[in-house]
Amino acid sequence: PQRADSLDRANKQDSRWPRQNSLSMKEWDIPYDELKLSEVIGKGRFGTVYRGSWHGAVAVKLLHVHSLGDDCVPLDTFKHEVATFRKTRHENLVLFMGACMKPPRLAIVTSLCKGMTLYTHIHLRKDKFTANKSVLVAQQISQGMGYLHARGIIHKDLKTKNIFLENGKVVITDFGLFSVTKLCFGNNARGDSLGIPAGWLCYLAPELVRALRPHASLHLPFSKATDVYAFGTVWYELLCGEFPFKGQPPEAIIWQVGRGVKQSLANMQASRDIKDILMLCWAYRSSERPDFPRLLSTLQKLPRKRLARSPSHPVHLSRSADS
Ligand code: ATP
Repeated sequence: PQRADSLDRANKQDSRWPRQNSLSMKEWDIPYDELKLSEVIGKGRFGTVYRGSWHGAVAVKLLHVHSLGDDCVPLDTFKHEVATFRKTRHENLVLFMGACMKPPRLAIVTSLCKGMTLYTHIHLRKDKFTANKSVLVAQQISQGMGYLHARGIIHKDLKTKNIFLENGKVVITDFGLFSVTKLCFGNNARGDSLGIPAGWLCYLAPELVRALRPHASLHLPFSKATDVYAFGTVWYELLCGEFPFKGQPPEAIIWQVGRGVKQSLANMQASRDIKDILMLCWAYRSSERPDFPRLLSTLQKLPRKRLARSPSHPVHLSRSADS
């Protein structure tokens, strides 16, 4: 009888869910006037990020208002994506604090990331990541992404620009807001041309590349497996310090990726295991790509193998690596 009672309670709660949901949406609604904005941290294509203050230091992404409208993403989509965002709590994901949801002031408020993005480290500062450090970073990305996927959230824009490194800790940003912040791009494009932002293409899985059409980005077939493909590119950047297909024009990249041609790893100085991870993430068929829990366990075995070769580490560590 106790079980029947709790089932009954759960059913009643289910029927109240829409009301509760709209109530809790209000909890995340931050009145724009409560935010204090200071300097601009950076401008993306669809919003400007400010350093701000709201009960402490925050980052405020103010969406360009022309992004929302009749011929673009409706306000409901924005609210839906905010609802998704607020379900996330993980060490390796930026902390969502709330949103301003009254047009024309639409903003996402998150914790302020310290440190620099992986993009800045790798491509601007040309910092070198040792294999061990790359593995530690990749493990944390896999942990954060595994959590997102377990909650049914697809990132859709995983890239080194959206991954911060704070004293060795990975913080992933910009997840789940792709429709709002990115999709208007397709609609704003003029004529039949397809505008492809620099540095975006090499994160797109073959099935996405094949689906690219002018004005059709709303219908791109994003999936957990397309996030894994993007992770493969991040892994490559960490190891090689550059983007795959470096220096090649977009048309050449589209042609190759769409047909299953991968960046050659012949000149890459890395162990077989490390290259295998890349090849698996970049598999042409989405069903052949590993999921993040599997990637994590593969990555967790890598540094231990390295430790086994290092005389400075206790023997019991190297033994456990082989077990
Ligand atoms: P795009 O939007 O075109 O993909 P982007 O990722 O550079 O490009 P935004 O996400 O709008 O653009 O970010 C603009 C800038 O703000 C970037 O330099 C980014 O690193 C920074 N930024 C974004 N979120 C935060 C945050 N939570 N804390 C600190 N800086 C942030």
